[in-house]
Formats: sequence, C-alpha cells, structure tokens
Amino acid sequence: MAYEFRGEYDVAVCGGGTAGTLAAISAARNGAKTLLIERTPFLGGVAVMGFWPHVFFTRTGKKAVGGLAQEIIDELIRLEGSLGHLRYEGGHLYTVTPVDCEVLKVVLIKMVSEAGVDVMYNATVRDICMQGQRVTGLIIQTKGGTFLANAKMIIDCTGDGDVAAMAGAPFNKGREDGKTQPVSLIMRLTNVDLIKMAEQVPTDKPVLWANKPHSNKKTPVYFPGRLGPWDDTEEAQQLFTDKNHQIFCLAPWVSDVVVNTSRLVGIDGIVYDEVNRAEFKARLQIYAIYKFLQKYIPGFSESNFIGGYILGVRETRRFIGDYELTEDDVLAGRKFDDNIGLGAYPLDMHDPDGGNVTFTQIGGDGSYGIPYRCLVPKGVENVLVAGRCISATHKALASVRSIASCMVMGQAAGLAAAIATREKKSTKEVDVRYLQTCLQQQGVILA
Ligand SMILES: Cc1cc2nc3c(=O)[nH]c(=O)nc-3n(C[C@H](O)[C@H](O)[C@H](O)COP(=O)(O)OP(=O)(O)OC[C@H]3O[C@@H](n4cnc5c(N)ncnc54)[C@H](O)[C@@H]3O)c2cc1C
Repeated sequence: MAYEFRGEYDVAVCGGGTAGTLAAISAARNGAKTLLIERTPFLGGVAVMGFWPHVFFTRTGKKAVGGLAQEIIDELIRLEGSLGHLRYEGGHLYTVTPVDCEVLKVVLIKMVSEAGVDVMYNATVRDICMQGQRVTGLIIQTKGGTFLANAKMIIDCTGDGDVAAMAGAPFNKGREDGKTQPVSLIMRLTNVDLIKMAEQVPTDKPVLWANKPHSNKKTPVYFPGRLGPWDDTEEAQQLFTDKNHQIFCLAPWVSDVVVNTSRLVGIDGIVYDEVNRAEFKARLQIYAIYKFLQKYIPGFSESNFIGGYILGVRETRRFIGDYELTEDDVLAGRKFDDNIGLGAYPLDMHDPDGGNVTFTQIGGDGSYGIPYRCLVPKGVENVLVAGRCISATHKALASVRSIASCMVMGQAAGLAAAIATREKKSTKEVDVRYLQTCLQQQGVILA
C-alpha cells in the first residue's frame, strides 16, 4: 500500500490528551522537530470533558506541580478560563482549580502552535514500522489518506498505550481479577440554580463557593452531593448501582454545570465492541439521569441538557516499566532518585464492581515522586509512555492518572525525548541527573 510521506521528525507524540499535548510542547521547546498525532479534532483528551487538574498542592499546602501545567493555568486565568487555585477549606483536597475546558482547548492550540509542533488532528496511529527494538515509523490513518511519518523517538500518550502495545511492550490491565475502574460519560447542563442545589442537596464534604467572572455574588464551584433522599424513587433504583449515590458538580460558570455521576462497570476500554456498546448505553444513561435530576433534585427543574462529551475511560493498559509505582509508594509519599516530578492527588478509586468512590490521602508530606523508570516500557528502545498508561499498579494508577500528574509526566517525557534525540541515546541511556536539572530549571521539579 502506498503511503503519503509526512516527514522525518525527532520526536513523534501519539495522542494529544493532557500528557501528549504537554509532551509535544516540551519536546518542541527543547529543540526537537515534533509531530503530534491526535484522533479527535481537539487537544486535551479526557481532561477537556470538564474536569479539573486538582493537585497543584499537597494536602499540607506545599506546591507540588509547576512548569507547563502552571503556565497553562496562568494563561487560562488571563482569558477568564480559570479561577486559579482556590483553597478548599475542610475538603479532601487542599485546593481546587476550576477550568473552563472549552477555553483550555484554545490555550492548548495556541501553545502547540507557538512551540512549532506539527499537529495532525483527526488522525489515528494505526500501525508502526520497527527495526529491532526501535519504532522507526508510524502509519497514520486520516479520512484523506494514509501517512507515514518517521521519528527518532516516540512518546505514547494515547492513554491506552496503543503504540507501545503494537511494538510488543508488555503490559497489565485492571486489578488481579482483570476488572478496571468504571467508565463514565460527563454531561453539561445549563440554567441550573446552583445556590438552591447547594442549599438543599445533602453533601458529606464542604461546598466550595467563589466569585466567578461577570458575577458579583458567590456561587458553588465544586459540589460533591449525595442522592440518598431520593434512593426510593423508581428512577434512582434503575439508574444507580449503589445507595446514596454521589454526584460531582463542577461549575466554573454561574449557571452551567458539568455533572460527573454516570457509571458503567465491566467495560474493557480497549475492546472495540465493549466501548461501542458503552457509548450507546452511557449516552442514554446521562439523558435519563438528566431527566431524574430535573424531576427531583432542587436547582435542576429548569435546566437544559447540553449533552455529553466523549466516553471517559479511567483505566486500560499499564505498561511494565523499569519500575512499577505501587499503592504503598503513593500512600507512603515515597520519593525516588529518578523523580521527574511529584504527584499529590489522593488515591481516587471508583469501585470496579459499581460501588462508591473512595479517596485515600497520601502519607508523608502529601506527595510522592514519579520515577523516570515508570515512563520507560520494557522491550522497546526509543519509546516512552506518559499519562495513564505508565508503569503503575491498579491502585497507584488511581492517583497518578490525575490530570496534573499527567501534565508533569508529559512535560518530562517531552524533554527526555528531546535530550535522547540530541544525544543519540536510547530512553534508558538518558542521563537522569541532567534531565532532573533541566526539569528543575523549567519549574517541574520544585525545590
Ligand atoms: C470520568 C473521568 C473523570 C475524571 N475526573 C478527573 C478530575 O476531576 N481530576 C483529575 O485530575 N483527573 C480526573 N480524571 C483522570 C484524568 O482526566 C485522566 O486520567 C487524564 O486526563 C488522562 O490523560 P492522558 O493524556 O493520559 O489520556 P487521554 O486524556 O485519554 O488522552 C489520550 C489521547 O490520545 C488520543 N488517542 C488515543 N488513541 C490514539 C491513536 N491510536 N492515535 C492517535 N490518537 C489517539 C485520544 O483521542 C486522546 O486525546 C478523570 C477521568 C475520567 C475518565
């Protein structure tokens, strides 16, 4: 088959989600000719479904995440797309960082363009070319034809680790019985009376209130509600697998809200037919939940259904790297000689059997190190993984998959790939001390 030749690159980043976009910006800013290939027509991946990168600070109030992640928040604040790091008094997080995901998409486009990244939207990495243990080329499928791009270094940020899997790198999936965290489809509703909701719906955590742009009164920003009082309704019994169901409402706006409460268990996020079926079911589910909220829940009676984004998959392949981050590492707040940055998000476990969500706090100083070795999958010489497919156990992933950690991993992977290309080294040969010095200078590793 004839392919259209796209070019020779130093670094090719596969997947333009949180990790991938930052990896591409980082590689390009550090001198690498960089290609970014993204399956959808926007950047940001799952994070632009409406979530927030919560964990810039440890539970004790120490800054854990900086670098490009902070640069993005600063630009969002300038464009009124973020309220910055808001102190969440009494909550399970030290701060919450509300972000308008539509503005985030714009910021990411600007940043990749300014960095000089060649971005291919609506483009899926379908196959690879290999020489020994090196991936030398990517076969990229678009509506308008099939492309071949060659690259010296590959960063797999597809979430599912599609490229590392094609290259034969070994991976694990799910907990011991193979079950993974549930998938969710997030919906956005307009015309919600947020104040009424916060005053009348029970919650076992504090509600975060803030002044938002173009408003002179405080409204709820983060509302983790409980639907216990409505457990006996026919609709709740059909819709939810648990009692006193949790509903996470995120509102950087005055009367719009992103609702994270749908859940489908037993879906393998890399089995086509399962994902296909889940897309159908999840969309019907969020509409039914919307009708339920509108009928019963204070504040929602006049709301409108804007719809859902794309199916949110929490967990699929986790590659076996030179080190596997464990639950114990996370909970002990362990640091490593090859830290490329810190994670500080509690262990956020959505029960694979459909029960509730639990948050377990990180011990020590409230942060753990993310070792470079977790980004280096076994069996391939020039591929790094970053984002939710890194080398971590099922439980450790429940923390390190958070958006801010993915940003840290992305920036570090981009820099490591640029260094490896420049110095003609494999991923394993990268001088980690030098990488760390550069990461310190770029504000990723904080003193
Ligand atoms: C429902 C849900 C709620 C969450 N809530 C929060 C939260 O509130 N706070 C928080 O910090 N974290 C949250 N998370 C976790 C966090 O959002 C994700 O773990 C993180 O964004 C993953 O980033 P990523 O870059 O690794 O993967 P993704 O965001 O999944 O990005 C992967 C990208 O690769 C692209 N891609 C995939 N395959 C290919 C291919 N073959 N070729 C080309 N492109 C490809 C995809 O289109 C996508 O853009 C949530 C996750 C889910 C699912």
